[in-house]
Amino acid sequence: MNKKVVIVGGGYVGTELAQSLERYCDVTLVERKKFFCHAPAMIRSLVQPDLLEKALFPYDKLLQRGQVMQASVMAVSESGVTLENGKALAADAIVVATGSSHDTAFKAPGASVDDLRAANRALAQQIEGAASIAIIGGGALGVELAGEIKAVRPQKHVTLVSDSSLTDGYDPRLGQGLEAKLGLLGVEVITGQKAVDLPQTRGAFAGPVRLADGREIAAELVIPALGSTPNTALLDPLPGVEKTADGRVRNDRWMRPSELPNVFAAGDAADNGDQMTIVGASRQTPWLARNLRNFLAGKRMDLTPAYGPWRRPPLLVPLGEHVGQSILPVVGLVGSRTTRLVKGRDLFLPKYRKLFRTG
Ligand SMILES: Cc1cc2nc3c(=O)[nH]c(=O)nc-3n(C[C@H](O)[C@H](O)[C@H](O)COP(=O)(O)OP(=O)(O)OC[C@H]3O[C@@H](n4cnc5c(N)ncnc54)[C@H](O)[C@@H]3O)c2cc1C
Repeated sequence: MNKKVVIVGGGYVGTELAQSLERYCDVTLVERKKFFCHAPAMIRSLVQPDLLEKALFPYDKLLQRGQVMQASVMAVSESGVTLENGKALAADAIVVATGSSHDTAFKAPGASVDDLRAANRALAQQIEGAASIAIIGGGALGVELAGEIKAVRPQKHVTLVSDSSLTDGYDPRLGQGLEAKLGLLGVEVITGQKAVDLPQTRGAFAGPVRLADGREIAAELVIPALGSTPNTALLDPLPGVEKTADGRVRNDRWMRPSELPNVFAAGDAADNGDQMTIVGASRQTPWLARNLRNFLAGKRMDLTPAYGPWRRPPLLVPLGEHVGQSILPVVGLVGSRTTRLVKGRDLFLPKYRKLFRTG
C-alpha cells in the first residue's frame, strides 16, 4: 500500500512539494484558503489593481493523483493531523509548511481571501489619495513598495525609513544599489533611523511619523512593512521544539522541528538556515521531496546528507517593471535589465499559471 503524506499549508513549499511527491506516495495537501495568493504581486497590485485577481490561483487542478483538502489543521502528532471539524487524517509523514502572516493587504489572514481583496483595494485607494507616503521598513517588501509606487506615480512624495541599511542580511552591494536606484526614482531614503511611537505595526495609518533622532516625517499615509510573523502554532506544542529570536521553529539538519521523527517543517515557519523568502523555500522543497522518499522507503534520515541552506542568499528586487537590483544564485549581483527579465516584467506569474494549470 502507498505510504501516506499529509502536507499542512498550500503556500510555496506545500504546493510544489505535493506536486513532486504525488507520483510516489498518497499525498493530501490541507490548505485553509480557496486560492493560492502569489505574494509578490500583492505589492504591485497596490498601484495596478487589475493584477490582484490574476495572482489568485484555485487549487482544484494542482494535483492529479493526490488531493487538496480545504480545511484548517488544528493539531499535529506522530500519527497524523486533526482538522478543525475533529476529523483525523492518518499519515506516515507530516510536513508543516504553514508559512507566515503579514498585514492583510499583503497576505490573507486565516481562510479568507476576500479579506485580502478588500484590504488590498482599500490600501490601493489610500495610496492613490495620498500626496506623501512614508514606508517603514527597509526589507524587500518596503523597498519594492517604494519603488513600485514611485515608478508609476512619480508625483507622489515617497519616503522609505529603515533602522538598518536596505535589505540588511544580504550582500551589502544589493542594498547600496537599491538605495541609489530609489534615489534616481525620487524616493527619499533614510537609513539607520528607527521610526518611533508607531500607533500600530500592521496596517497603514495617517502620518506624521517621528524618527528616533527627533525628526518628523510629514506623510499623509504611513505604511509599516516590518516583516512577517511565522505561523508556528501547530509546531509549538510538539516535544523538544525550540524557537529562534525571529519566532521561527529551529529545525535539525534533516528539517525536523521536534523529537517526532516523521514530522518535518519547511519554509517561513521553520528555520533551516535560509531567509523567509520564496527563493529560500525553493531550495528546501526539492531536498525535502527527495529525502521524504528515502524516509518513506525506510532509510534512516541521519545517514542521508543533511540540508545545506543558501550560502549567499539570493533576492530579486524590482522597483517597478523596468528598474531593480538582485542577487542571483551563481551569477551574483545583477542590475535592472536582468531583474526585469527574471522578475520585474511578470513577477513569475507564468510559473504559477503553469503550476496551477490555469493556462
Ligand atoms: C507582500 C509579500 C511579497 C513577497 N515577495 C517575495 C518575493 O518577491 N520573493 C521572495 O522570495 N519572497 C517574497 N515574499 C516572502 C514569501 O511570500 C514567503 O517567504 C513565502 O510565502 C513562504 O512560503 P511558505 O510555503 O513557507 O508559506 P506561505 O506562502 O505563507 O503559505 C503557508 C500556507 O499555509 C496555510 N496555513 C497556515 N496554517 C494553516 C493551518 N493550520 N491549516 C491549513 N492551512 C494553513 C496558509 O493559508 C498558507 O496558504 C513576500 C512576502 C510578502 C508578504
